[in-house]
Amino acid sequence: MTFPFEAPASEALFARASAVIPGGVNSPVRAFQAVGGTPRFMVSGTGPYLTDADGREYVDLVCSWGPIILGHAHPAVVEALRDAAGRGTSFGTPTQGEVELAELIVDRVAPVDAVRLVSSGTEATMSAIRLARGFTGRTKVIKFAGCYHGHVDALLASAGSGVATLGLPDTPGVTGATTADTIVLPYNDLDAVRTAFELQGDSIAVVISEAAAANMGVVPPLPGFNAGLKALCEQYGALLVLDEVMTGFRVSRAGHFGLDGVEADLFTFGKVMGGGLPAAAFGGRADVMARLAPQGPVYQAGTLSGNPLAVAAGRTTLELCTDEVYAHLDATSATVARLASEALAAEGVEHRVNTAGNLFSIFFCDHAVVDYATATRQNVRRYKAFFHEMLSRGVYLPPSAYESWFVSAAHDDAALDRVADALPHAARAAAAERSPELVTPPTAEDRA
Ligand SMILES: *Cc1c(COP(=O)(O)O)cnc(C)c1O
Repeated sequence: MTFPFEAPASEALFARASAVIPGGVNSPVRAFQAVGGTPRFMVSGTGPYLTDADGREYVDLVCSWGPIILGHAHPAVVEALRDAAGRGTSFGTPTQGEVELAELIVDRVAPVDAVRLVSSGTEATMSAIRLARGFTGRTKVIKFAGCYHGHVDALLASAGSGVATLGLPDTPGVTGATTADTIVLPYNDLDAVRTAFELQGDSIAVVISEAAAANMGVVPPLPGFNAGLKALCEQYGALLVLDEVMTGFRVSRAGHFGLDGVEADLFTFGKVMGGGLPAAAFGGRADVMARLAPQGPVYQAGTLSGNPLAVAAGRTTLELCTDEVYAHLDATSATVARLASEALAAEGVEHRVNTAGNLFSIFFCDHAVVDYATATRQNVRRYKAFFHEMLSRGVYLPPSAYESWFVSAAHDDAALDRVADALPHAARAAAAERSPELVTPPTAEDRA
């Protein structure tokens, strides 16, 4: 495959980066390994647009993997950051701003009585699992194949095939001992969860699931799946953690909880709540959260947790995420999904659009995608061709077929026009890709 345009400045930076940073990037998916070519080094963003080191402008349909819900460099967020920075960047003491951010979260998500702020989604899920184990006094964790919860050792087990009850590590460096207490089950398969509880219900501390899976492409929970998890957890005395790091405050005011109302015992948040800075959180039932140090015995800490700048960006972002913003995100993502699907259909390209609220992704396949096994049977070569044609026409899509697309409040008609103009060309490029290679399951590289 040839890549349609040159990016000399990005190429030069990538060469320099590769000498001092493994793979040239600080998070694997950024390296473009799943699509080929040179990653674009971005120098600035405004509203729905990004500008790269070669001075090319793109409509951004990644939005930093979710956080940039108001668009890049939103004036109110920038002002809040300036203001906070002028007062000092970190004190290692409590501050009023973190109280206000915690109040905003508790106010939006009814089952969350208390939250602890951390700096990344990984920390949030890692801490939630520790707390659930500490609370229940049990060891085992159920997770679902294809669900990503950050790079927590015990959760980097996904099981490659259908028989997925043995937690085998996904990556060197995670030992079998670390994942031995991890049970990996197929997503959307409540019977498998029921069976696991019947077999070892006494030792299962926690079930963790993405509130809507969006890291194997978007795979929404089937009706009743999340509620069924909650019922089984209750029946067997385990805790349910719904990971809303991606969906939280994005798919509605109250995240995915606002869509399905399933009251997990603990929720995890990140991405949007940091407004583009490192902030994340876990929270839930008062009696569970009360077990955290210093109130309780379960240790958890962070030098930069509740950092004043991160909290200022997060607070300002959440305050500006009004009902109108969510209505705009819903309408805009529906438009982009429809335009993309129409363009692909016009060229006869097999595809499925999956949505979860205003998150969506397109699978290049001709079957329903409900779990990891069905998600990974798609023609990723078609996505590569599609991706590069869009890139060359000024639209920045996720550099992997297994990621959600994101829009922001700043995506207006002008931005959508540019997307609409590029799509027919990209659909043609995808149709021209007739290589039979079908299966390339996502690897660690496909993950942020
Ligand atoms: C992004 C993500 C994480 C990890 O968050 P980081 O801030 O990258 O550590 C965890 N869970 C889900 C569902 C995510 O989408």
